Amino acid sequence: MKVILLGAPGSGKGTQAAYITDKYDLPHISTGDLFRDNIKNQTPLGQKVKAIMDTGNLCPDDLTVAMVKERLKEKDCENGYLLDGFPRNLFQAGELDKIDAPDVVINIEVDLEKIEHRITGRRSCANCKNSFHVDFIGDREACPDCGGKLVIRKDDNAETVRERLAVYQAQTLPLEEYYSKQGKLVSVDGDKSIEEVFAQIVKVLG
Ligand code: ADP
Ligand code: ZN
Repeated sequence: MKVILLGAPGSGKGTQAAYITDKYDLPHISTGDLFRDNIKNQTPLGQKVKAIMDTGNLCPDDLTVAMVKERLKEKDCENGYLLDGFPRNLFQAGELDKIDAPDVVINIEVDLEKIEHRITGRRSCANCKNSFHVDFIGDREACPDCGGKLVIRKDDNAETVRERLAVYQAQTLPLEEYYSKQGKLVSVDGDKSIEEVFAQIVKVLG
């Protein structure tokens, strides 16, 4: 099964992805996590994208597509994938259709006005990459899942969030129509609890 998770920044894609990979045994491919790993490891790719990511803009398509292409060649993608954060514009969607088209695209719909609160209160685990909101975990410093160190992502500040939302509306939103025309888009209500959102996704994936 080849699945794409679509949704605004802070819509809960990463959280749902962790639940989905658990249940369906698909590799979770998050382009944001892959870029952040490259930055952390100071690779040439990481050096190229760091400044861009800090502003909230998209990394160059050629680098992004090449990175995903490489990742999809790995053995764990034999039976499908769960893409989170890719594609993010029409060009990337067209490229993915040439390499390895998805079966289903799950669109997590959230109230855009709540996003700033969701993202600025987010704490991300440096180890397992899961994220949590201070509304639920308070000021704890260790990941509830793995004990790793909780950090605030560099692009999770109010200013960058507004830029990321603008990019989402201009470049990513058109993907809804793109996949809807292909008959692959299914929308779920993301303004619900984690479990309720996941239940909707399970109904889609079976
Ligand atoms: P979120 O979904 O919360 O915005 P991500 O971790 O998916 O966070 O993405 C963080 C940043 O990584 C983006 O703002 C962008 O700079 C870069 N990025 C991630 N995926 C892509 C992509 N498919 N194309 C271009 N840039 C990307
Ligand atoms: Zn963790």
